[in-house]
Amino acid sequence: MALPTALAFLLIILMARRIERSSGIACPRCTKALAAHKAIVIASRNCSYCGKKVIKDEN
Ligand SMILES: [Zn+2]
Repeated sequence: MALPTALAFLLIILMARRIERSSGIACPRCTKALAAHKAIVIASRNCSYCGKKVIKDEN
């Protein structure tokens, strides 16, 4: 029973990440969804959780 349970958890994690990515921006470092902080993220171009730059500068 251990292996199917582990596989089920893995599937749930993969599905959750896919939904997170399709619903908005997710930080590449901490993988948190940034949709709730979209205004802050767009204004600062940084993740509101870990501070990593998530939006590239347009030159
Ligand atoms: Zn982050």
